[in-house]
Amino acid sequence: MADIFEELESDVQSYARSFPVVFDQAEGAYLYDTDGRQYLDFLAGAGTLNYGHNHPILKQALLDYISSNGITHGLDMHTVAKERFLQALQTHVFEPRGLEYTVQFTGPTGTNAVEAALKLARNITGRHNVIAFTNGFHGVSLGAMAATGNSHHRDAAGMPLSGVTPMPFDGYLGEEVDSAVILEKMIDDPSSGVDRPAAVIVETVQGEGGLNAASMRWLREIHRICKRRDILLIVDDIQAGCGRTGTFFSFEPADIRPDIVTLSKSLSGYGLPLAVTLFRPELDQWKPGEHNGTFRGNNHAFVTATRALETFWSDDAFAADVKARSVQLLDGLESIAARSSGALERKGRGLMQGLSCPDGETATAIARACFGRGLVIETSGSEGQVVKCLCPLIISEQELGDGLDILQHSALEILGKQIRRAS
Ligand SMILES: *Cc1c(COP(=O)(O)O)cnc(C)c1O
Repeated sequence: MADIFEELESDVQSYARSFPVVFDQAEGAYLYDTDGRQYLDFLAGAGTLNYGHNHPILKQALLDYISSNGITHGLDMHTVAKERFLQALQTHVFEPRGLEYTVQFTGPTGTNAVEAALKLARNITGRHNVIAFTNGFHGVSLGAMAATGNSHHRDAAGMPLSGVTPMPFDGYLGEEVDSAVILEKMIDDPSSGVDRPAAVIVETVQGEGGLNAASMRWLREIHRICKRRDILLIVDDIQAGCGRTGTFFSFEPADIRPDIVTLSKSLSGYGLPLAVTLFRPELDQWKPGEHNGTFRGNNHAFVTATRALETFWSDDAFAADVKARSVQLLDGLESIAARSSGALERKGRGLMQGLSCPDGETATAIARACFGRGLVIETSGSEGQVVKCLCPLIISEQELGDGLDILQHSALEILGKQIRRAS
């Protein structure tokens, strides 16, 4: 049965290689394969399932909507589902944070939202250059990929990726070097070779790039540098947003106001494709239909997204839970690192943390060993050297503890084997 994948599906598949089973069902923090085997899910659709698999409240909202013959596809026309989503975004996200954003519905994937953000920034400023950061990941369509660091992705473009200047992310040159100073100098020096940028695009925690977490001070510096020069600041919150770091937007603790924000992955709350690009109302300089797309109104996603905002973001209780689990994860990872004789280092922020390993081989071996013990977990980073914990945010203390136990056993087993082999 499983051979149909081998026979028909392109070799481009990636996650399936790490988890060579056929998944059948899922609930909360667990996945089940066709043999009924249970797996704790620390991948969560690469951060798409912040509220877990098939959350009963979201599922009921969707079932009710479908049963009532609610609109499924409506291009970008006004629907009741979209109206309610915009209202929920206003009431539960923008208003309590004092934010004023216009909402653009882009095509349904993250890279669509990034393309819209880049295009808008270039059109408004009349400048073509965009600053992106080392190890950044913004998607694999050409414009977004030009802003992506990883050569594995870039090399597949088959044509030059242009219009982006890479700059060192926070900490890229070691703790002693403030890379914001380099950015400011390079932008201001008319002889640096850096064309005056339309925008700076940044992730506050680099999800695919190895869980590098920018400091709040650095983010404020980047914000200040942009603001003073009329350069638009784009925060790509596709992975770090929707509560992943403990606040709805990952930039909230830095107290900054990006000009443009992209959201996708967990926005629908149910794993349904949905992406938006948010920007200051003055930046809404699109002409009607100038940037379009057939799937800009996933009404089923609006329904679950609305219910997710109402359920989890109408007060502070959920955010407080995420913060408590984040502390548990931090402590657990620090404790594993402490037993690793310096081989492992904890990285990241919120429920977006992991363990940096000496190399990609070690990280892959640890992830494989975890899978053998019933934990689905992936690696990230330039060499795939970071084992990345991306559990659903609704995970219980017990479940997170179970996952950390499996990770500890697996990490110490693999490191132990390496030491025995070396001696
Ligand atoms: C996943 C991701 C994207 C791309 O989203 P897709 O839906 O895969 O196109 C862009 N930016 C960040 C930060 C991401 O994590």
